[in-house]
Amino acid sequence: MGRIVVCIKGVPKPGTVKVDKETHTLRRESAELILNPPDRPALEVALRLKDQTNFEVIAISMGPPNMVPLLQKVYALGVDDIYLISDRAFAGSDTLATSRILAKALSLLSPFDLVVMGARSIDGETGQVPPETASLLNLPSITYVKELRFVDGKFIAIREDDFGEEEVEFSPAAVVSIVPEIDYVRPPSLKRLLSLKEITPKILTNAELNLDEASIGLSGSPTQVADVFEKTLVSRGEIFEGEPDELAEKLIEVLKEKGFLA
Ligand SMILES: Cc1cc2nc3c(=O)[nH]c(=O)nc-3n(C[C@H](O)[C@H](O)[C@H](O)COP(=O)(O)OP(=O)(O)OC[C@H]3O[C@@H](n4cnc5c(N)ncnc54)[C@H](O)[C@@H]3O)c2cc1C
Repeated sequence: MGRIVVCIKGVPKPGTVKVDKETHTLRRESAELILNPPDRPALEVALRLKDQTNFEVIAISMGPPNMVPLLQKVYALGVDDIYLISDRAFAGSDTLATSRILAKALSLLSPFDLVVMGARSIDGETGQVPPETASLLNLPSITYVKELRFVDGKFIAIREDDFGEEEVEFSPAAVVSIVPEIDYVRPPSLKRLLSLKEITPKILTNAELNLDEASIGLSGSPTQVADVFEKTLVSRGEIFEGEPDELAEKLIEVLKEKGFLA
């Protein structure tokens, strides 16, 4: 039986975000965490492959201990197993350090046929983790996938990018990221929802991953957040009134004044 691993991220519920004054990173351990919305379609695509081919589907997440209820809810969607990758040493990890941690955890869960991720998170929004994790695992990375099938031992993906759509055929194993816009996501199973309390995720700490502490967390992150501050937008807009020709003239005049037009 093949194995699919879905990487899901817990993100602070908008409006509950607190920033650590010293490290300028988000205080995830105290925030109310929600499932990163783009990871919902990623789970759905993996579960559709399970329906189609009986793949085993495992959901994993790197995050603080308050991720457990979120992983339990993901279990209710129909995945076969859930893992939390959690250790204080992982705190403050940028995308490279996060990808190192996920890649090591995935190597402990191998062999697998496919790693499925969302296209991006709604907090960091870099979209860097899927291709970075793929390169660290030395696996192909197929991004912005909107449809995925498994036929005669091969995956066939429809992916979209700025130039339109393309069909990509590839052999296991690979890392794919899923576009946020898919038509339908299944509801959680009531039977599983009623027995959630009995389900606890398997925990992987750095004792199991055995990563050099200098390569993870804040110390292992080339990207250091210099400052996080709320941008207060002061609109300096001006409203011009008049006939279209007049307004066009006025606009050209202003653009010239401001040096946008020669
Ligand atoms: C406002 C803000 C700005 C940031 N800017 C940067 C930056 O410029 N450079 C940088 O290196 N870091 C940055 N970070 C840190 C970055 O958010 C974290 O490193 C994060 O763990 C991974 O990056 P991402 O959120 O951009 O993920 P993305 O690459 O956008 O996530 C894509 C997919 O990867 C998977 N994934 C991501 N994180 C996890 C996880 N923890 N567990 C399981 N799966 C996961 C999910 O499937 C997700 O849909 C920023 C964080 C914040 C809050």
